[in-house]
Amino acid sequence: MARKGNSIIKGLEINDIITELNKAYADEWLAYYQYFIEAKVIKGIMKDAAITELTQHAADELRHATMVADRILQLGGTPLTHPQQWFTHTNCGYEEPKEFDVVAILNDAIKGEQCAISIYSKIAEMTKDKDIVTYDIVSSILADEVEHEEDLQALHDDITEFIADIKKNIR
Ligand code: FE
Ligand code: FE
Ligand code: MG
Repeated sequence: MARKGNSIIKGLEINDIITELNKAYADEWLAYYQYFIEAKVIKGIMKDAAITELTQHAADELRHATMVADRILQLGGTPLTHPQQWFTHTNCGYEEPKEFDVVAILNDAIKGEQCAISIYSKIAEMTKDKDIVTYDIVSSILADEVEHEEDLQALHDDITEFIADIKKNIR
C-alpha cells in the first residue's frame, strides 16, 4: 500500500474508490471474455475485419483489468479474487452472444462500450481534483473505450451499408 501516495487523496473515502474500481474490474474481465468468445463464434459477411477488431479489443480489456487491479492494490484494496464475483459486482453485465451474425455481435459489443464509457466518466468525475492518480488511469481507459465504440460503430455502419447496396443491386 502506497502510504504517502494515498495521503494525497483529498475529500474521498479510499474504500469508496476501491469499491468503484472493483466493479470496473469485474466489467473488464467480462468484457474481455465477451470479445474473446465473440471473435470465435462470429459468422457472416466481412467477419475477418470484425475478428481483427474484436481480438484487439479483448487485449485492451485485459490490459485495462491489469491497470485497475494495480491501482486497487496501491490503494490498499484487494482486486476480486473469484470469477463468481464478476457477476455480483459488474455494472455492465455480460451480453451472451445468442445470434452469431456480424451485425448482431457488433451491436452487443457497442452496448458494452457505451456502458463502459458511462462508468469510467462517472469514476473520472468522482476522482477529479481529489485522487489524481486514479483520475489519470480512468481517463486513459475512458479514451480507449471511446475509441472502441467508434471503431465498432464505423465497422457496423460499413457492413450495414454494404448489405444495403447488395440488396439494391439484386432488386
Ligand atoms: Fe475496458
Ligand atoms: Fe472497451
Ligand atoms: Mg479498435
